[in-house]
This record gives sequence, structure tokens and C-alpha cells, in this order.
Amino acid sequence: MITGSILISVGISVGFLLITGLILAALLILAEKKILNYGTCCIDINDSERTLKIPGGGSLLSTLAENNIFIPSACGGRGSCAYCKVQVTEGGGMVSPVEEPHLDAEERKNQVRLACQVKVRKDIKICVPKELFSVRKYHGRLLHKRPLTYDIMELRIELVLPKTIDFVAGQYVQLESEEYGGHDRVMRAYSMASLPSDKDRVELMVRKVPSGICTGWVFEHLREGQEVTFSGPYGKFHISGTNTEIVFIAGGSGMAPIWGMLRDLKERGIVRKSTYFFGALTQKDLFFVDELTKFQQEVSWFRFVPALSNEPAESDWKGERGLITDVVARYMSDCSNHEAYLCGSPGMIDACIKVLKKGGMTEDRIFYDKFA
Ligand SMILES: Cc1cc2nc3c(=O)[nH]c(=O)nc-3n(C[C@H](O)[C@H](O)[C@H](O)COP(=O)(O)OP(=O)(O)OC[C@H]3O[C@@H](n4cnc5c(N)ncnc54)[C@H](O)[C@@H]3O)c2cc1C
Repeated sequence: MITGSILISVGISVGFLLITGLILAALLILAEKKILNYGTCCIDINDSERTLKIPGGGSLLSTLAENNIFIPSACGGRGSCAYCKVQVTEGGGMVSPVEEPHLDAEERKNQVRLACQVKVRKDIKICVPKELFSVRKYHGRLLHKRPLTYDIMELRIELVLPKTIDFVAGQYVQLESEEYGGHDRVMRAYSMASLPSDKDRVELMVRKVPSGICTGWVFEHLREGQEVTFSGPYGKFHISGTNTEIVFIAGGSGMAPIWGMLRDLKERGIVRKSTYFFGALTQKDLFFVDELTKFQQEVSWFRFVPALSNEPAESDWKGERGLITDVVARYMSDCSNHEAYLCGSPGMIDACIKVLKKGGMTEDRIFYDKFA
């Protein structure tokens, strides 16, 4: 008898939980599709420096973008890149499980959130860096698409509206792909390889990622002459104003911002003793070797060190061999008086940071953009 009533109560509780869960899921879906009406909400930015009156229900990231405030995001709102951090001082709701791994104790204390995960369902107060107000959406035309290697494509985009862009060498843009093959439009980050003085165009180096949505579009669908949309400029990866000697480390398309930085230094007449370690697997992964060798001949302060880690021993390669970390360690046994600028995969960057620290470089002198 007692067992029977326990079973009935457990059944009722499980049923209740299931129904509550279903109702919550339905509400979330309706909210996502903006079918559920949250009415007009107010987003107060930087203590009323700007205020937006918007229909509630969307994510903070997409709502701001719809109002021409572009927060950087490299994963298209999936909550995996953690680039869209903003301070939400009021109305942001609870930190979601997706956000938790990306926020350290200090950030939680400062009410930092991932804008892609915060839903605007009531009035909300946020703080964003002022420079984001200068981020614009650009319409351009693809002037030129050229393979640099079998898996890296160079894109040159002529700006149409607005006609010019102001940026600092090292910054990136967010390229918007078009719908294709069942994929929605996505936005992905690509560093600018062009010179800041060439204000009417943007050059990118895009490496093909297997099954990647944006890179699949770039490689297989994007055609010269086609309209291209992006936003920018974003990012804090740029050369410091010191005169400290520089170590650049980048492989593959990680060369993009470094190529922009080097030519920008030369153009501005800045003399910064620098070594660029370009890591690749084999000779077929190398590109811009002629350009960088010529650059080395043109400026006395620059040294170029390409290094191959998988080149067959019997090949005609005369340059450095081995993992880029080992090559850097050989050249830079003491780098305590240097600065480093790194660009590429998170694994490569983390491994290089270890080597640089071993050579005496302090963390505050190591700058990087991880292509996560
Ligand atoms: C600040 C910043 C600057 C960047 N600059 C450049 C640049 O100049 N050139 C460039 O080629 N890329 C750059 N990236 C990487 C770029 O933004 C995209 O992540 C990459 O092109 C993949 O996009 P996708 O849509 O093709 O792949 P997705 O559809 O997003 O991903 C498909 C699959 O590939 C994995 N994946 C995603 N990115 C990579 C990657 N880079 N390597 C290996 N696997 C991956 C994903 O986890 C997923 O499983 C940059 C990233 C950041 C954050």
C-alpha cells in the first residue's frame, strides 16, 4: 500500500518535471524566434552614452548588431570562441552553463558575460569598449582571389560602401558568408594582411578548414566580382610603441597580420630589429618566401627564418628544419629583452609561449591572436 503511494507520488513528480521542462523548452524556442512578445526593451550602453529601444527576445549580440554595434564574435554566436565578452551590469539574468567555462572569477565579479548567450528580455545595462562604436559594416567587391598554397587563398576586397576603412595593422574583420548547401550565413574572423594606408581595400589570407562553413564558401562559391560583406575593424593585436626587439611567430594563414605589420613598420620608417619564424610542414605549405626574402634585403632590421617540420630528409630544402618551437628555442635562447607577436592555431601559440617564457620573456611582452 505504502509502496503504491510512493510510486504514484514519484510518477506525479516525474510527470510534473517533464511538463515543466517541455513548457520551458517551448518558451525558449518561441523566445529565440521572437514569437514570444517581450515588448520593447531598453539597452543602456556605457551609462546612457547610447540607449537603444528594441523589441525584446533576441540575443544581446544579434540585437546590438541589428543596431550597428558590432561586438567581435568568431564562432557565430555558438558560445565557443568567447570573443563577445561584455559587461552586463543589470538585467542579464543568470550565467548559463555555456558561459561558465569561459568566465574566470575576476570576470564573474565584474559581471562579464558572453553577449551571444545573454537574452534581451527586459531593460538591460551594459558597458562596451568605446572603440566598438567605430566598427562598421562594409559592402565590398571581390577584386581578386588567388591560391597561395593548396589550402590558403588570398582575397582582395575593394570597398564600395563605406569606401574606406581605418584600422591598425594586426586587426581583423568578420567576413560574412552567404547561404549555400543548407548552411546559413555565418560570420568568421580574418586578420587583415593589407596596409592601413591602403584604405580602399582589405586583403585576407584564408586557410581551408575541412567541412568549414565559411572557408567552404570562400573556396568553392565565392567568385571574383561578387559582392562581399564584412564588419570591422576588431581586435587589440597590434605592434606596441616601444623600440624593443621583436620575435614574430606565425605559420599558414597566421602570416596575414604579420605581413601587414611588417610592411606598416617599413612604410612608417620605424626601425624595429625583428625576426619572423614562419613554421610550415613541407615546401608545399610555404608561400610569400620570395616576398619576405626581398623584404629582408630591403630593410636592415629584418630577418626571415622559414622552418619545415615534415620535409623529406633527401629534399633540396636548405633552410631550417624541425618543429617551430625547437627552431625558436635554438635562435632565442635568451629573449628576455624582446617582445613577441604570435598568430595561428591555439596549440602552436601555447607551445611557443612556453618556449619564449623559458627564454626569459615575461607574459606582458607576449601578444597573440589565436585562430580559434
Ligand atoms: C581573431 C581571429 C582571427 C582569425 N584570422 C584568420 C585568418 O586570417 N585566416 C584564417 O584562415 N583563419 C583565421 N581565423 C579563423 C577563422 O575565423 C575561422 O575559425 C576558420 O576559417 C574556420 O571557419 P569555418 O566557418 O570555415 O569553419 P567552422 O564551420 O566554424 O568549423 C568547422 C569545424 O572546424 C573546426 N575549426 C574551426 N576553425 C578551425 C581552425 N582554424 N583550424 C582547425 N579547425 C577549425 C571547428 O571546431 C569545426 O569542427 C581567425 C580567428 C580569430 C578568432
